[in-house]
Amino acid sequence: MKVLKINKDDWANGLKKLGESCRLLGPLKDGEFHNFKELGQGELPDFNFRNTRLSPKSIVYPQSEKMFDYTLDQNDPNHNILKEAEKDYSPQVVLGIRPCDAKALSLVKLNFDTPEYQDTYWLKRFESTTLVGLACHNPCSNCFCTSTGTGPFHPEALDMLLVEDNDQFLAQILTEKGEAIAKTAGWSTEAGSDAPAQITAMKEAAEGRMTSFISAENLKNKSAMEIYEDPYWEDVSFSCINCGTCTYLCPTCWCFDVQDETCGNCGIRMRNWDSCMYPLFSLHGSGHNPRGQKLQRVRQRFMHKLKYFLDKYDEGIQCVGCGRCVRYCPVNIDIRRVCELMNRSEACPVTI
Ligand code: SF4
Ligand code: SF4
Repeated sequence: MKVLKINKDDWANGLKKLGESCRLLGPLKDGEFHNFKELGQGELPDFNFRNTRLSPKSIVYPQSEKMFDYTLDQNDPNHNILKEAEKDYSPQVVLGIRPCDAKALSLVKLNFDTPEYQDTYWLKRFESTTLVGLACHNPCSNCFCTSTGTGPFHPEALDMLLVEDNDQFLAQILTEKGEAIAKTAGWSTEAGSDAPAQITAMKEAAEGRMTSFISAENLKNKSAMEIYEDPYWEDVSFSCINCGTCTYLCPTCWCFDVQDETCGNCGIRMRNWDSCMYPLFSLHGSGHNPRGQKLQRVRQRFMHKLKYFLDKYDEGIQCVGCGRCVRYCPVNIDIRRVCELMNRSEACPVTI
């Protein structure tokens, strides 16, 4: 594998060149936190962060997006015809995405790119995006990515992986897209032959700093109904206030709602993120709601992430261990504890 050495001056100059041909996005300080934003001309991403508060999923899958325009004006020859909204699929480069969040995109792709159904909005944006990862030297205390098939230096789903090494980056080129942006940016200095060993040593050190883990090895073999009927769901869901924070922050949550918004004779059809934690999420047109109670909604979230997804795709659980839902749930509901309960071979009531 090719490893380049990029010093900080070359980094800044390369981004300037890259910015001439594509949109650049990266983590920037946003109040007390960091979030991914489009970089202004000459602006550098701020890598002085652990991870962003919001996951970068909105880069490929906006929180709200217009799908169609329509008019209800009977005199307009196009009345009642949905006209596809124009979209921007020009190339974009995401700088500094953490390996867990990149892996999350590959899990979401399993749902948005199937033989029966392709979500063209999501796919076109994904295809026009180049992912430049940033290895994590100091994982947060509630990250558990090494238990979920990824890790602080995990290359899957990335086009390039940057490893910060004092005043330079070691950049692993992982795909043709990665190769192409390195060329455009003018990053061509190959690192010495000891670079792979150096990266491996830093990776092992970072993994050694992980303090949080989950066990999910029994989930595959347990029956869904057995877990569904386990006695702990009342305890697990008791304090949930159905705020939806966990699902909005999660890089692997993909649910959306489609709504028509009409003003006078003009209208737009939107798709907006939705959350299985909201009571309206599963309300049927008939008025029946199969998940009208909090317990049912909380159970659905964990069953989907840790059991249904695993059974359907056989690609592990639908969680990359980024720890966001653990950090920001206002009532401290912790997926690690819930996974522990679900994974137990013997069900026993444990208070969360
Ligand atoms: S963040 Fe916590 S309280 Fe809010 S919906 Fe999720 S589990 Fe419930
Ligand atoms: S479920 Fe929680 S820890 Fe897992 S990927 Fe989503 S936000 Fe991160």
